[in-house]
Amino acid sequence: MQVILIGPPGSGKGTQAKRLSAQLAIPHVSTGDMLREAIAEVTELGKVAAPIVASGALVPDDLMIGIIKERLGRPDAAGGSILDGFPRTVVQAEKLDALLVQRGGNGAKNVRVVQLLVPDEAIVKRIAARRSCGNCGAIYHLETAPPAKAGVCDRCGAGLIARVDDTETAVRKRLQAFHGQTMPVVSYYRNQNLLREVDGVGPVDEVFERIRKSLS
Ligand code: ADP
Repeated sequence: MQVILIGPPGSGKGTQAKRLSAQLAIPHVSTGDMLREAIAEVTELGKVAAPIVASGALVPDDLMIGIIKERLGRPDAAGGSILDGFPRTVVQAEKLDALLVQRGGNGAKNVRVVQLLVPDEAIVKRIAARRSCGNCGAIYHLETAPPAKAGVCDRCGAGLIARVDDTETAVRKRLQAFHGQTMPVVSYYRNQNLLREVDGVGPVDEVFERIRKSLS
């Protein structure tokens, strides 16, 4: 199954994608995580992406398409994957279609697009309280899902950090990019009758249950 998760920044795509990946036994492909890794490792891609990601704008389509093409071409993604953060523009969506058709197999036929619905006001509140593990990527919320020990990851013991693009200015810019560039992707899939809308407000377990039902 090829799952595409779409939602505004901080809508819970990453958290839900990790769970879905475990349940469906297909890889979680997060372009945001891949970019953050490239930035941390100061690769050529990382150098280009760093200021763009920090500002909250979108990285150019040709770069993103290159990354996805390489990632989806690896053997573990042959049976599908959970795409989190891609496609974010209509150009990316069209390219993804072409890639899936080219590759054939299970992924191409079995596409499910899930849109997580979360209002903008809820987003700004969520993101201000978001922390993630600098080592394993686990995600916490200071109020609704705090770590057992402040500032320390429950899973691996490393330190928790706030993302550089979780500032108020960058979050506004990310919301703008979502409404301007990614909402047309939602229409693109709606027109193909592929879109499943899921209420993203509520406890993580409940949202997960809604997503699971929407996929069946
Ligand atoms: P969120 O969904 O919370 O905004 P992500 O981790 O998915 O966060 O993405 C973080 C940043 O990485 C984006 O704001 C953008 O700069 C960049 N990025 C990730 N995926 C893409 C993409 N498909 N196209 C362009 N830029 C992207």
